[in-house]
Amino acid sequence: MSITFTAELGPVIGFSIACCREAALVAPRYGTYDDALADLVKRKDRENTAGTRREPLPGCAWPDFCPDGFLSIWALEEQESPSVNVSGLNAALLLQALGYREPFDNGPLAGSATAEEFRGRVLTALALAPADDGAPWHETTPRFTDCGRWPNYLQDLLEHLHELADWCTQHHREIQWA
Ligand SMILES: [Zn+2]
Repeated sequence: MSITFTAELGPVIGFSIACCREAALVAPRYGTYDDALADLVKRKDRENTAGTRREPLPGCAWPDFCPDGFLSIWALEEQESPSVNVSGLNAALLLQALGYREPFDNGPLAGSATAEEFRGRVLTALALAPADDGAPWHETTPRFTDCGRWPNYLQDLLEHLHELADWCTQHHREIQWA
């Protein structure tokens, strides 16, 4: 399971059929969701009838796995927004560090916040997190039982969230994670 922190959806300029974000950006565009859906259904019917695997899509991030990947409809934004993708475990740690989650909470990792509030919490977490991995990270969760340390890569992730928060502040968008 992975969690993506990103901006709320901005103005949409079209839709495409793809397996991943990278392929979606270069795939043929449809003006409406319904047009894309109609074509997706046709495409699936054709594949089922032919009984063959499709070719990897142009631009696909995982061409080796592409033929088995699900195709879905992607909304294309006027201006592509940044995103930060992390594992579920790291997302739980980040959200704890940001004060959005209790240490032993097992609930879904989804939420939203205004860019300004999120940015403030990221700056606080960055200030509190030690600069190297020598200091113990005290929180433990049922899935992180090894009373671990706050590793540098989590600090790197906080830096990426900082950039995301700056972008969202400039573009007047909320931040979402799921
Ligand atoms: Zn693909």
